[in-house]
Amino acid sequence: MNSISQRVKDINPSATLSLTSKVAEMNKRGENIISFNLGEPDFNTPQNIIEQGIKALYEGITKYTPTEGANFLREAISKKLLNENGIEYNSNSIIVTNGAKQALFNALMAVCDKGDEVIVLTPCWVSYVEMIKLAGGVPILVSMSEKNDFSLDINKIKKALTNRTKAIIINSPNNPTGVVYEMGQLEKLGRLAVEKNILIISDEIYEKLIYQGKKHISVASLSDEIKDITITVNGVSKAYAMTGWRIGYAAGPYDVIRAMVRFQSHATSGANSPAQFASVEALTNSKEYADFMKDEFEKRKKEMINRINKMGGITCIVPKGAFYAFPNVKYYLGKKYKKKVIRNSGDLCEFLLTEGKIALVPGEAFFCPDNVRISYSNSLENISKGMDRMENALKMLV
Ligand code: PMP
Ligand code: GLU
Repeated sequence: MNSISQRVKDINPSATLSLTSKVAEMNKRGENIISFNLGEPDFNTPQNIIEQGIKALYEGITKYTPTEGANFLREAISKKLLNENGIEYNSNSIIVTNGAKQALFNALMAVCDKGDEVIVLTPCWVSYVEMIKLAGGVPILVSMSEKNDFSLDINKIKKALTNRTKAIIINSPNNPTGVVYEMGQLEKLGRLAVEKNILIISDEIYEKLIYQGKKHISVASLSDEIKDITITVNGVSKAYAMTGWRIGYAAGPYDVIRAMVRFQSHATSGANSPAQFASVEALTNSKEYADFMKDEFEKRKKEMINRINKMGGITCIVPKGAFYAFPNVKYYLGKKYKKKVIRNSGDLCEFLLTEGKIALVPGEAFFCPDNVRISYSNSLENISKGMDRMENALKMLV
């Protein structure tokens, strides 16, 4: 029986999540793989947040919340957006979701009509393209150049615009490249979007992970006109090591947020209520821990980039944010291991997994086949051991 819908047949599974399951299976079999594929902090959720989660359970915050999220959390988000990002939203223009992932999906479901084009800047996170397709839209991939450190190229974006362009998704700090967009570039993008009446969906989930003293800029903060066409997406997953708590949020134009709420009311209802309660603690009382994690990531980044750039053949731009390195491995494509040709970065990652016992994500997953993603969300000790393994494995390629 052909029971699977065409809609789902047309989408690819999440490469990042599939690989995480595969590595977990291999480690269960005792293979001792070092994970550089992880897209989540390896730290535990801070104690003060856990305590608030437990308190919520004991105090009966275990019932449904309104679909758009509990008032206490939406108010905390509203304050956070004003104080940290310089954007003023009242609670009615904010929705709490099951992770930032659902905020992005809701936004696309709320705004895309069949055939609407949504611009995605590549390299990009694995889920944008599939979400756009699920929402009936058409993903338009616009590649950012590695020569320019994958920075925002307005001219390329302009060339991709048509009368069906509905929205553009941006992600700064970026997964997988680590690029952080500059103020001037964001201003130009904002002006272009206002002029052409295009929505900006700004995925700011890595906001707290910016290095070298740089500061995060929310595009919606740049002017009222830009704010009126921007949906800002964020969450507690990466900043507070809370990936499994599943709390994200979006703030944006009132009518778009209300449409997202309408959609979510039939899809999943309000997000987990104890996790919403604990997220208030994350947003209001956990800066120290977020800063501690950032400092740790920065040390690991230095170690990893240093090792990668010494390996020979591989070049890696220095990431300014998030916790990923995205080196170019073209030099190794076409080489052989035991007569088997490494045709693409997928083959290279498979080889590094089986022979090198390290897990990386192939660039194909991010629409950038000459690169691989190496997450430095792992201990300095494992980074050092894993980079030894990588270096030794690459030497076996001829
Ligand atoms: N956007 C990007 C760029 C991500 O890397 C992730 C990580 N999963 C998400 C959104 C989704 O975050 P969440 O876990 O809060 O759903
Ligand atoms: N965002 C993370 C990653 O890119 C987590 C997995 C996912 O949701 O894709 O690996």
